[in-house]
Amino acid sequence: MVDRGLGEFCILEAVRETSVTNRKATKLEDEDLLIAVLNSAPIVDGSPTDQLAVREGGELAKRLGGTGAKSELLHLQQTRDALQDIIRGDPDAADCLASALDKAVMLPEVTPDGIRWQLDAPVDERLSARVVLAWSHVVQQLPGRLRACANTECNLFLIDHSRPATAKWCSMTTCGNRIKARAHAQRARQGDRFDRSSSASASTPTGTLDSNR
Ligand SMILES: [Zn+2]
Repeated sequence: MVDRGLGEFCILEAVRETSVTNRKATKLEDEDLLIAVLNSAPIVDGSPTDQLAVREGGELAKRLGGTGAKSELLHLQQTRDALQDIIRGDPDAADCLASALDKAVMLPEVTPDGIRWQLDAPVDERLSARVVLAWSHVVQQLPGRLRACANTECNLFLIDHSRPATAKWCSMTTCGNRIKARAHAQRARQGDRFDRSSSASASTPTGTLDSNR
């Protein structure tokens, strides 16, 4: 756990609106925040990268509503990695996600429009907690729709909004077409090998085959 200075304090932030008018907008914000963090470690030219690395991650964290502080980035990296693991089916990642919410509580605020739930968390853990809440909201509202890109050489994730729920790729123009082209080339090579072996078998003298049985 990262040590925090005396000057840091807990702040309140609205993360969930219960009024009907705000529900849709909150859902979209959840998805955008979740995907931005999940996809902050893309593989570029075959090498893993990290947009939340301490040197350059501050700007991304600020765009997502954070402070950009080093301690916040470290929490975000741990949370992102745990989310990636749990989406890929590792149940042990739940413990890491739980630790991201260790100091977070949701406080009710009664308003004329209903109850507004507010997140109360240490400032350097607030954005991580928001990301975990966003993940929970998405998987509960859209079960089975959050998944890793089917390209095993890709480290991006997608939320499938297609009607048949069959989306596989983070992007059809990159991963989808690339994998399909690779599969097509592999089938062509296998077909070529099959053709060569067939013609070789056809030309092999019967006596030679019998002697090898
Ligand atoms: Zn992909």
